[in-house]
Amino acid sequence: MMSRMKNVESTKIDQSAKTSVDDLMKQFDLPVGGLSQSEAAKRLAQYGPNTIQQVKHKSEILIFLENFTSLMAILLWVSGIIAMFAGMMELGIAIWAVNLINGCFSYWQQHAAQKATDSLKKMLPSYVKVNRDGKTQQIQVEQLVPGDLFQIQAGDSVPADARIFNSSNLQVDESSLTGESVPVEKADHYQHGDGEFAQQNIIFAGTVVTNGTANAIAVATGMQTEFGRIARLTESQKKVIYPLQRELNHLTRQLTVIAIVLGIAFFLLAVFFVHYPFAQSFIFALGMIVAFIPEGLLPTVTLSLAQGTQRMAKKHALLKNLNSVETLGETTVICSDKTGTLTQNQMTINHIWLVSGDYEVTGTGYVTNGKIRKNGQDVNGQPASDLGRLLAIATLNNDTEVNEDPNGGKAKILGTPTEAALVILSRKAGMNIKEENQQFPRLKELPFDSGRKLMTTITKDQTGNPLIYTKGALGSELKICDQILDGDKVRPLTAADRERINGINEQYSKQGLRTLAFSYRNVSVDDPLRKTAIDDYTIDTAERHMVFVGLTMMSDPPRPEIFKAVKNCKRANIRIIMVTGDSPITAKSIAVKIGITSDKARVISGEELDQMSDQELKAAVKGEVIFARVAPEHKFRIVTMCQENGDIVASTGDGVNDAPALKRADIGIAMGVTGTDVAKDAADMILTDDNFASIVSAIEEGRTVYSNLQKFLLYILNSNVPEAAPSVIFLVTRGLVPLPLTVMQILTVDLGTDLLPALGLGIEKAEPGIMDQPPRPQNSHLLNKSIIWKAFGLYGLTASVISTAAYFFVNHVNGWPNIPLASSGLPYAEATTITLGAIVFCQIAAAMNCRTQISSVFSIGLFSNRRIWLGIGVEIVLIACLMYQPFLQEIFNTGPLNFSEWVFLFCIPIPLFLLEEGRKWLVRKIRGQKTTV
Ligand code: ATP
Repeated sequence: MMSRMKNVESTKIDQSAKTSVDDLMKQFDLPVGGLSQSEAAKRLAQYGPNTIQQVKHKSEILIFLENFTSLMAILLWVSGIIAMFAGMMELGIAIWAVNLINGCFSYWQQHAAQKATDSLKKMLPSYVKVNRDGKTQQIQVEQLVPGDLFQIQAGDSVPADARIFNSSNLQVDESSLTGESVPVEKADHYQHGDGEFAQQNIIFAGTVVTNGTANAIAVATGMQTEFGRIARLTESQKKVIYPLQRELNHLTRQLTVIAIVLGIAFFLLAVFFVHYPFAQSFIFALGMIVAFIPEGLLPTVTLSLAQGTQRMAKKHALLKNLNSVETLGETTVICSDKTGTLTQNQMTINHIWLVSGDYEVTGTGYVTNGKIRKNGQDVNGQPASDLGRLLAIATLNNDTEVNEDPNGGKAKILGTPTEAALVILSRKAGMNIKEENQQFPRLKELPFDSGRKLMTTITKDQTGNPLIYTKGALGSELKICDQILDGDKVRPLTAADRERINGINEQYSKQGLRTLAFSYRNVSVDDPLRKTAIDDYTIDTAERHMVFVGLTMMSDPPRPEIFKAVKNCKRANIRIIMVTGDSPITAKSIAVKIGITSDKARVISGEELDQMSDQELKAAVKGEVIFARVAPEHKFRIVTMCQENGDIVASTGDGVNDAPALKRADIGIAMGVTGTDVAKDAADMILTDDNFASIVSAIEEGRTVYSNLQKFLLYILNSNVPEAAPSVIFLVTRGLVPLPLTVMQILTVDLGTDLLPALGLGIEKAEPGIMDQPPRPQNSHLLNKSIIWKAFGLYGLTASVISTAAYFFVNHVNGWPNIPLASSGLPYAEATTITLGAIVFCQIAAAMNCRTQISSVFSIGLFSNRRIWLGIGVEIVLIACLMYQPFLQEIFNTGPLNFSEWVFLFCIPIPLFLLEEGRKWLVRKIRGQKTTV
């Protein structure tokens, strides 16, 4: 069946590969301008959305049942049976009921966490450029249908199985299908290589474009693609276990072993030392085990992480896996791009420089309400002039469309902001871009890449000569130019010209402006390149002997929120290293302006970087440094050297070539708006607003989530000591002191009253000053010494003393020591109930105390976390029910408390809370931190 299906699908692909484009268009009923919207809608209904559905291999029932088969659950099932057989029917049923409730609760947590993670996936739609109704437009990838004509370029994921219509230098990484990581070349003519997926003119869904551009016709979408077929057949991916989960699993396992060892010891002591009946001893030991196993730890932590990632998503940072939350909190260095991340990506050309003079360009943003002026006079570029030449390059060497909003709203840019600024410049000069493109059709292009920092197009001029137009970084342009356009004359480019141009560039770059240089080459009859077919023009042959035309200078202001974000990083001891493709002077000017570095910072260019040894680079990245005119490939080395210095590195990126650095970094951050699919795929976090400030918010949230997990852990470990203390007293006194807390009461605290306030701690807001501390050391553990000391020492012992004292006090009121300590009946029930009540009220104090580590709880607002108060309210109602409901009294061995006993319970949290506030105040004083009350 499988192989038949495979054959049918593959044959369809093969047929599409062999069919001519014209026939294919007929077959798909595809007009030249692309499908109409109504036809696309019909096909969408017919073929379904273009998505790959995950095949679930585990039924929901199985996932649900797994919550009832953990070690602790099995222990409880067995104990329930033993209790029933030993004649303690009600206890047995109660243990089972508690087990059921606990399992359902963790399933709910698991489900909620999954829902939170799934909802994140929907927040980042992918888009594809298609031709519909004769226009180029961007649609969501899910809307793509068979017969759609779409465009792809380097960095895109191929959205469907498609037949290439035309292409330029297209290379595709098909490793997701074939496992072969070397990119394969694709073109628009049929040729079949070896094996599957080898048709040269077919691109496959799920693969990625590493180079070049193409137009293609979708022949299969969604589950009908080859990728969909494989997804349907293969097992779903194995679950990845993250370090934090591993640490928690390890912790749970350790505590479980301790619990079991303690349980066995208690069991043996009860049987042989106290001579307690066998079955009762077992149930007694079970109490100990339950008290110490941190059941529910993992699902609660997962839920709390998932909720943390949702909060981050609201602040424009999408995390792809929960583990990154932890790493974010440890980040010590951020390697950040400049353009669009630190700046607004809102390019406006302000000046044009040509040999014949300077021009000023008025108006800002992507609206055509300005003019090109020289000496205060409006000018338009005449075709024969140098300005006309520069404008022609800006217009024709351009892949971007700008759709201005007639109502003054934000313009829609299909392409890059740099090119959009050039489109606007052409419009300001009164050029009709559509007409220009029709008159001078593009014959070939050598696309921009951030390595060589140039983009070249070849068009036909009026006389039929091929015209090579190039734009790019000044340094790259000067390397390929040997002539210069001086007014309307071409003359050799002299050393003096170069010096002058560099001087002009420096003058504008110091103001933080980005310069772009323009050049051309007319391949006339006597040009040796004339002998080469245009299709065979390469970077080496076409990008040389160019005529330098001039420069444009564009502004791209810093994002307004960046200043505060940079300050926050400094306070939090997080260093920022700017790594940009832009020029050194522009980069430094911006870095100093927004406070990343002082003007003493060292600027290292890509060329210098190549000359530096690893040792030199490692030393350099420790200081104030900016990397400019670097290629994305350099980023990998910079990130690696920082890591070798012991730093935890977050690095941003958007292009195909950024992928290795994004993968290498501890936190790879891709740009959600301008980033390529490849970068998004390689990253751990995606910024939905491309904004550096969102990284800082995410780091703050990461630190908060981690510290909340510690608060939560402290809280649930806290009740272990007071729960164990009564059993120890019982054993030490050889049963002379009857158990001050019964097994069912231990279960009540552990699996009942404790759960809700604990959940509240998981969503606590950031503690003031969380960004005033240095990053958490890498080797730190969730369960650190301070938590152990607080849970098992300070808080734990205090609660034990209070609850035990309450137990003896109630006995005293009832006549002890004149009569022996009660071991049955109402007096015993009253005594154990007060022990239970005291533990619960100590936990109420703990819930409050755990909310902050050193800040005063008042500084975050005593009532600001409603979930904790709700938890506390439910907790009190629950134990009141246990005390007064006869049926529950029976099972839980509880009794009613009188008014003064209730007053006593309500008084417990107050001194505990105030004492802890005092301790925190003292710690703040000692550490010299400002009191935030
Ligand atoms: P960052 O690396 O901080 O994002 P950037 O956008 O300047 O900054 P790149 O995209 O690598 O970095 O661009 C490097 C240089 O290449 C730019 O400074 C510019 O001079 C030139 N450049 C950018 N876009 C184009 C383009 N579409 N065509 C030609 N040259 C370009």
